[in-house]
Amino acid sequence: MRVLGIETSCDETAAAVVDGERRLLSNLVVSQLDEHRPFGGVVPEVAARAHLEYLDSLIARAMDDAGLGYGELDGVAATAGPGLIGGLFVGLMTGKAIAAARDLPLMAVNHLEAHALTARLTDDLPFPYLLLLVSGGHCQLVAVGGVGRYTVYGGTVDDAVGEAFDKTAKLLGLGYPGGPALERAAVDGDPARFPLPRPMLGREGCRMSFSGLKTAVRHTVERLDTLDERTVGDLAAAFQAAVADVLADRCANALDAFARDHGVPGPLVVAGGVAANAALRARLEDLAGARGTRLVAPPLGLCSDNAAMIGWAGVERLRLGCTDGLDARARPRWPLTEMSPADVEKGA
Ligand code: ATP
Ligand code: MG
Ligand code: FE
Repeated sequence: MRVLGIETSCDETAAAVVDGERRLLSNLVVSQLDEHRPFGGVVPEVAARAHLEYLDSLIARAMDDAGLGYGELDGVAATAGPGLIGGLFVGLMTGKAIAAARDLPLMAVNHLEAHALTARLTDDLPFPYLLLLVSGGHCQLVAVGGVGRYTVYGGTVDDAVGEAFDKTAKLLGLGYPGGPALERAAVDGDPARFPLPRPMLGREGCRMSFSGLKTAVRHTVERLDTLDERTVGDLAAAFQAAVADVLADRCANALDAFARDHGVPGPLVVAGGVAANAALRARLEDLAGARGTRLVAPPLGLCSDNAAMIGWAGVERLRLGCTDGLDARARPRWPLTEMSPADVEKGA
């Protein structure tokens, strides 16, 4: 089974072909960083135009790399949401056009489901597992019981953690995108020099909050006379340590809930761009080890937005007969809890 995946929900234009044996036949991503950098963040209209410009030739190259003609595909999967509406239209319309022209099944993929299932592409991982999804736009703890079966244990009440990394990096003058720059700055920093709060730490449940942490960094910066390199490093380290403490604490509660619901201690899976953070990975590995389970962390290129995960979600759905009509809608807002009941039934 071979599926073409198309991803255009944010600022990555991506196309990939994956097969049912978990092989990546091709996997291409064009990041629009240069287009958005002058604005210090993603501009929806700029993103939509860039997707339109890049996507056709990228799909042609993905097919070429895979050494396949369209007639050798078994299906087409395109992200239908959640995300920026302009980009979603471009990708979903393109997917529909290929599906219609070649009479192939279409899978209108939920981007969050694709993140949630990525670990099954990279690892031989049975259901159920606990997912920590940490990206630029999302921050959730989810029990993944099967395709279409998601129980959200908690999420952020304000900023996503990647967003907090980006905003804090901006405050520290570290540029865009902020997460990787902040991690580099933190390497030699002293996390103890500036005490920062740990929002929600020790509270029941799995809710998280990161905007207060970013504000605490801002207040600290405002009180300083100068922001020299050492101070930036110390603040970056303090911020990163606070985030890791909070996420590890929230994951511990989620693992408790998961063990109650499923009778097993894990495994814990991390996905999303922030999963690239080594300090966070180390903390989560320690936590999983202490609980007698393991951390599954897909390679970095498959944690941040890509089309292989969309193609893989397509494979998982196609196997279960969960395909979509050419009238499938693009959905800017589409939480995992709103996967359609029919799909959940078919996924059972
Ligand atoms: P979403 O997947 O939620 O729709 P997105 O495209 O912004 O949105 P990703 O591409 O998965 O999400 O992740 C990007 C985010 O990850 C950015 O906020 C970025 O700062 C953050 N990030 C990337 N690398 C690191 C790192 N090493 N440490 C911390 N954060 C990081
Ligand atoms: Mg992105
Ligand atoms: Fe994403």
